[in-house]
Amino acid sequence: MSLVTRSGILLRSHPYSETSRILRVLTSEGGIVSLMAKGVRSSASKGGGGLDHFSTLEVVYYDREGRDLHTLKEFRTTRARGGIGREVLRFAAAAFLAELVLGHTLQEGNPELYRGLEEGLEALTIEPTESIPGLLLSVGWRLLSDLGFPPALTTCIGCGRPIPAGEALARFDPGGGGLLGPECAEEGEGARLGPGAREELRAIVAGEPPTPVRRPDVHFRLMERFALHHLDRTRPFRSTGTLLPLLEKEVEEDPS
Ligand SMILES: [Zn+2]
Repeated sequence: MSLVTRSGILLRSHPYSETSRILRVLTSEGGIVSLMAKGVRSSASKGGGGLDHFSTLEVVYYDREGRDLHTLKEFRTTRARGGIGREVLRFAAAAFLAELVLGHTLQEGNPELYRGLEEGLEALTIEPTESIPGLLLSVGWRLLSDLGFPPALTTCIGCGRPIPAGEALARFDPGGGGLLGPECAEEGEGARLGPGAREELRAIVAGEPPTPVRRPDVHFRLMERFALHHLDRTRPFRSTGTLLPLLEKEVEEDPS
């Protein structure tokens, strides 16, 4: 048993008993670690020192080699992100991103993924409300790419031909991994995407989402289906139930 110190992002914390919790932490160097935290205050406690979701922590733990659950010795919050809890939309977006990362059994460190999540959560803390849907989509696609599943958007996943601009038929096939061009879309599966929606999707994936995204609910569904397929999930994401109605509401309230 060795003592290990790491920086990590708290993805999930749930009670194990009256006085202990199990933490799931994404670390840069060691992937996702599960830590048994005894005698810590719950995330609901005020006044600092508690364990808040989506904070960056420095954790010191006893690494029990060959085991999946290690024992937390101590922790220090190096960056609290209380701003995320200020709005349901922000919190649900962060919860979805955490679920994306937790959907993959990550044993080794993935510095790109770590940076992507940390920058994404930071932006969710400070950006204005109208930017949150686009931000969620961009960061979600970035994390999926960092996990090894970038969507194919420039050439057809069926035949490899370039996807033309303009009105030609195209579909987004989540299982296939991206866009089907006009020659393959006729017989193909997945939602039809018009030229405007395709441009919007490319901008979102490139990290430059428009504000507002015209149909954040439609884009979210595409990303969610893609993630469910490629992360081999058997259950839907829990945060979708909260998130999707909020994204649909954004559409209703947009006068354009
Ligand atoms: Zn094709």
